[in-house]
Amino acid sequence: MDPITALRQVLANDGLDAAFISSSENWRYFSGFTGSHAYLVITADRQILVTDPRYTEQATAQAAGWQVITHGLDPLPALQQALQASGARRVGYETHKLSDHEIRSLRAALPEIDWQPAADHGKRLRAVKSPAEQAAIHTAVEIADRALADLLPLLRPGVTEREVAVELEYRLARNGSEGPSFGTIVAAGERGALPHAAPSERTLNLGDMVVVDFGAVYRGYHSDITRTLWVGEPALRLREIFAIVEEAQQAAIAAIRPGATGGEVDEAHRTIFRRCGVEEFALRGLGHGVGLEIHEQPRVVMGSDEQLEIGMVFTVEPGLYLPGTGGVRTEDIVCVTPAGCEVWTRSPHLLRIPAASAAEGRK
Ligand code: ZN
Ligand code: ZN
Repeated sequence: MDPITALRQVLANDGLDAAFISSSENWRYFSGFTGSHAYLVITADRQILVTDPRYTEQATAQAAGWQVITHGLDPLPALQQALQASGARRVGYETHKLSDHEIRSLRAALPEIDWQPAADHGKRLRAVKSPAEQAAIHTAVEIADRALADLLPLLRPGVTEREVAVELEYRLARNGSEGPSFGTIVAAGERGALPHAAPSERTLNLGDMVVVDFGAVYRGYHSDITRTLWVGEPALRLREIFAIVEEAQQAAIAAIRPGATGGEVDEAHRTIFRRCGVEEFALRGLGHGVGLEIHEQPRVVMGSDEQLEIGMVFTVEPGLYLPGTGGVRTEDIVCVTPAGCEVWTRSPHLLRIPAASAAEGRK
């Protein structure tokens, strides 16, 4: 079913006349428009896109079948026009997107509309990816894999986390990424215990494990990958933790199938952590959907009863974080298939930075 038809069913079920869309991922998903500013009004029989004059031509070309209305400095009159043209009375707006201030102005300008806070319908519909969406994410995964392969020969003890992040983002762009998927994480040694460390001036030192978490964007679709690099030979305790994370990830991947819940898949990896006595060091859920946003549905976390469906694409990223010592996380992207899932990420899990680089060895 195409996205608009699916949305119209949701609107009918929720007793709404129209959806008012103001988030970029959802206007792109429903209309195909990739510009940076738009509002959509979608009713049972109309599709209206409101944007500013920079985008009139682009919107008309990309959003085939949509009525495009261009607004002046103030978007309110055009929104009034669009909503009045639609004839809608009960209109659902995206609570995650409109601020209190914005919704107050809309209520004041359009008092005849019954503005209803609505769930993010787009997010729910976007959880199952179409073949074209799957292909875009798959390409974003391949770009990230290639960028990492290009980065590795440059790494040696003594480079800083920031240098690693900058080199990686350059190589993502060189390989075709439209931009970083999110702020690249590089966390060496004890800083690996911080699940979302921003790159610092700390250097990569012999014996460190280094958590590197990044992604690419292709046609608006995100990938997300984490590897924990070994610098030389890390301490035995860290190598043990690495092996436990590997086993936990395999257990989770084996539990993925259509009909399983996110909570069941999370539990499969937690069982391994519990058996190894390290569950207290797992600070996060197991995974999240990826798509037009970096964090989407399904949520693969403790207690989630969201059921997995064929065509859902999400991360499997078990991690353990030992305060003062370091962290290990491995993150791959999978797609749910009739038989279970396909793992799309291809980078090897164990990547070692040698004590001396090949170039230094020749000196
Ligand atoms: Zn990640
Ligand atoms: Zn992730």
